[in-house]
Amino acid sequence: MYDVKSMRAEEFISDEEIRETLAYADANKDNEALIDEIIEKAKQRKGLNHREASVLLACEIPEKVEAVYRLAEQIKKDFYGNRIVLFAPLYLSNYCVNGCVYCPYHLKNKHIARKKLTQEEIVKEVTALQDMGHKRLAIEAGEDPVNNPIEYILECINTIYSIKHKNGAIRRVNVNIAATTVENYRKLKDAGIGTYILFQETYHKESYEKLHPTGPKHDYAYHTEAMDRAMEGGIDDVGLGVLFGLDLYRYEFAGLLMHAEHLEAVHGVGPHTISVPRVKHADDIDPAAFDNGISDDTFAKICALIRVSVPYTGMIISTRENQEVRERVLPLGVSQISGASKTSVGGYAEPEKEEEVTSEQFDVSDQRTLDEVVNWLMKLGYIPSFCTACYREGRTGDRFMALCKNMQILNCCHPNALMTLKEYLEDYASEETRKIGMELIDRELEKIPNPKVKQTAYEHIHDIAEGKRDFRF
Ligand code: SAM
Repeated sequence: MYDVKSMRAEEFISDEEIRETLAYADANKDNEALIDEIIEKAKQRKGLNHREASVLLACEIPEKVEAVYRLAEQIKKDFYGNRIVLFAPLYLSNYCVNGCVYCPYHLKNKHIARKKLTQEEIVKEVTALQDMGHKRLAIEAGEDPVNNPIEYILECINTIYSIKHKNGAIRRVNVNIAATTVENYRKLKDAGIGTYILFQETYHKESYEKLHPTGPKHDYAYHTEAMDRAMEGGIDDVGLGVLFGLDLYRYEFAGLLMHAEHLEAVHGVGPHTISVPRVKHADDIDPAAFDNGISDDTFAKICALIRVSVPYTGMIISTRENQEVRERVLPLGVSQISGASKTSVGGYAEPEKEEEVTSEQFDVSDQRTLDEVVNWLMKLGYIPSFCTACYREGRTGDRFMALCKNMQILNCCHPNALMTLKEYLEDYASEETRKIGMELIDRELEKIPNPKVKQTAYEHIHDIAEGKRDFRF
């Protein structure tokens, strides 16, 4: 029985409800009157439910699809402006006891190089990341209670926050580790993490069990209910995602929105972010083995519909996608991207050589440097942002959503983005990037509506040029 407020995975992600949703979407995909009604509802910027959004996903009428794209662009502009937040993943350990068939870290893979960073190696990695200009990391680890227990993860977080190299600092550590207990989530919260991210991989229970044949991750309910435990442990910024390619995308899309609706209904706050990874080639993984791969067009449509359906959520695109795809989906609602990522353990301080046995999780499609990514974003009209202010000011969960809903972004996130960009330009940028960035900051400062905020932002930008750091609204 479908029950959005149930705490049981099989009830808030009811298979029956998803099947009925897909049948309803098929029956109505050419129903222009209903489609127009749903698009009108979306224009109120309060989101769409999984049934409504699924109808739009199934609809192939060109002018309706075009209307969804335009609306996604408008909502993105209204709520997020032209800022794009930058981050990098940091792989701590690829020891893993699970059997995930799409991931090269699976237990049976004997030829991948197994590595686990020591605290000294973390210092090297984080120093390299700081020297690029990164301020925000997502830490990643395989699931292994012996090699990567929670104490190890906590120690790593502590080390990361303690490293201050030149003007560098990591100001926000997001965490992407396997589903765990309420007690461990509380420990992560106390360690000062930003978002807890856990991809569902697939919402389809039967497929999930086949794709995760062995190890603790096999337990569908434990995995699917993880976000509720995280919230119970005090983490109110959680990040959802599915790994597109594993099961039918329309099923996954409905499941993803039902998960978001569940979090909102039970905890009063929806997902802080949604990620949209697609299966990539990796050490012993051939993406062609998964026959549910989606085209770039479908990928773009999903991104636009997530923006329209969950207007306040951040949307993340990683370097799994190449420059072209990233460029296409940026205006459709993406708010965060990774840059200059390495998916190998220890890869920032010591990039792996071609002939070396790899420790990578998957191939990276966008291999540009952070400076190239920053430069590219600015040329496309975006403000690259290294801001981490919200969570450091206690604006998490519904307090962040309130800021977004009240459209206070231009008086808050916008100046914060400009100040952190200024830090980047002063400390890390190439000559050309610096020049473009300085002009952009001058232009964008003018857009701050509140005169007092504008004046303070001007002063801080000036102080940053004088060597001061870490201002925020
Ligand atoms: N082990 C943790 C877990 O179980 O959630 C941490 C996550 S793992 C380091 C990060 C994510 O990478 C996974 O959740 C999965 O969605 C994704 N991933 C795994 N193999 C992949 C592949 N071949 N291509 C693209 N993404 C992959």
